[in-house]
Amino acid sequence: MSVLDDAQRVAAKFEYRAEELNKGVKAFISQMHEGLQETGTTLSQIPTYVTAVPNGTEKGLYLAVDLGGTNFRVCSIQLHGNTTFSLTQSKVAIPRELMVAETSKELFGFLAKQIEIFLQTHHGEHYQAHLEKRNTMGAHAALAETELFQLGFTFSFPVNQIGINRGTLLRWTKGFDINDAVGKDVCELLQSEIDALHLPVYVAALVNDTVGTLMARSYTSPGKTGTLLGAIFGTGTNGAYVEKLSKITKLKTMQGSDYDKSTGEMIVNTEWGSFDNHMTVLPNTPYDWDLDNESVNPGIQMFEKRVSGMFLGEILRRVILALTVNPQSRLFSDKDSGENELHSTTTIAGDSALYKQWGVDTAFLSIVAADSTPDLGVIRQTLSRDLGVDAATTEDAEVIKLLANAIGRRAARLSALAIAAIVIATGNNVSRGGGEDDVVDIGVDGSLVEFYPGFENMIREAFREIPEIGEAGEKRIRIGIAKDGSGVGAALIALVAAQAE
Ligand code: ADP
Repeated sequence: MSVLDDAQRVAAKFEYRAEELNKGVKAFISQMHEGLQETGTTLSQIPTYVTAVPNGTEKGLYLAVDLGGTNFRVCSIQLHGNTTFSLTQSKVAIPRELMVAETSKELFGFLAKQIEIFLQTHHGEHYQAHLEKRNTMGAHAALAETELFQLGFTFSFPVNQIGINRGTLLRWTKGFDINDAVGKDVCELLQSEIDALHLPVYVAALVNDTVGTLMARSYTSPGKTGTLLGAIFGTGTNGAYVEKLSKITKLKTMQGSDYDKSTGEMIVNTEWGSFDNHMTVLPNTPYDWDLDNESVNPGIQMFEKRVSGMFLGEILRRVILALTVNPQSRLFSDKDSGENELHSTTTIAGDSALYKQWGVDTAFLSIVAADSTPDLGVIRQTLSRDLGVDAATTEDAEVIKLLANAIGRRAARLSALAIAAIVIATGNNVSRGGGEDDVVDIGVDGSLVEFYPGFENMIREAFREIPEIGEAGEKRIRIGIAKDGSGVGAALIALVAAQAE
């Protein structure tokens, strides 16, 4: 058997046929409904208390901060009211010792200090006017709400959100470990340190980055139609969409605070990375199985482990390795016969990234998909430069291309599954066609969807294979990149929150 035949056999395991895709869509819709009714389901369907999406006419100056992991970002966003905005920002690394400090005061005090420095640097006039007012009226003079900067706080750790600016920390991740913050309202923690510095700032919204993506797209998208869905395909994957309040029946049983009911809608954060954790419809190969088994959280985030940037490179690495060590398969086994002086033997360095868990970045799949040179020279060079495989043959590169494309294509088709299910479940009967402006708008963000060649095209191809969408419906779904959910998106949530009060 040639190495290409062997690779074709493996690539076929990643095929995700129309029939399975359609079964997956039905399961997603059913798990969506379940999640709206009760807690503890595979799709968490978290109510965000954000009850309106912008249409591009919003105006004003807002603040946004983003605590995501290594850095803390502060920005101000001027919304011009014509779908455009200007953004000013600063970024600082979070000192390690604050991530594991005795109390949360050290960390949140540091964050408030950064906001103060930002205001002094970029909004000095406003800040000075506030200081003078305090000096003449006394430290406890209450500021009118219009004099306060409304701030959206993107906090990328697990929280139990109980109001638009209320959420208790469930646990720290990403190397943070400050015991006394767990169970506390993170907005309150930030607000008290802001107040201790007497800053004219009100923490108006606690923001999830996927919700921010939806808001950012809704403000910047052409036309007056609001965006239905914001979706991230980056390190992880997740989606947030606009749902009818009447369908979120679990809200009645939750201990959340009051919210504006006038729009009849609320954005729901699906946390779709954990779709079908019980594995009733998701495709599975031995490589997926091993990846999950050797991960830090087996049985969790099963959809994400087949779709997002953190995992696709690792799936490919496992497939390549299996074909390399298999004595029946001859990947990277071209040997110098000694008859041809120019012929060199393919070698794999002992410390090759192929031998290390997480050694292959998903960016490699993008490079592979983009190489259309006749001898696949770019793939062979990258194998040598990044993966320590020297003198790979063109046939080896063809094998890599076949395998990488199969993994990328399955990820795109699974992405289509989630998007299509939400379009269908929200009653958008797109398959009947419609006018030029009759579109369903979707905002996306993340390196995978932005840089993987043809990712959107593969999503669209899958849409056409779903009867409830079809050829006509696929044309009505508009997908646009929505950058900066944690900047402009967070600012827009602060705006919506302030208007709802
Ligand atoms: P994040 O989701 O962490 O905010 P990104 O959207 O940049 O950030 O996503 C990073 C992920 O995207 C990483 O898992 C990385 O492997 C992957 N990635 C980076 N560059 C590319 C690329 N050119 N093509 C596909 N995936 C990429």
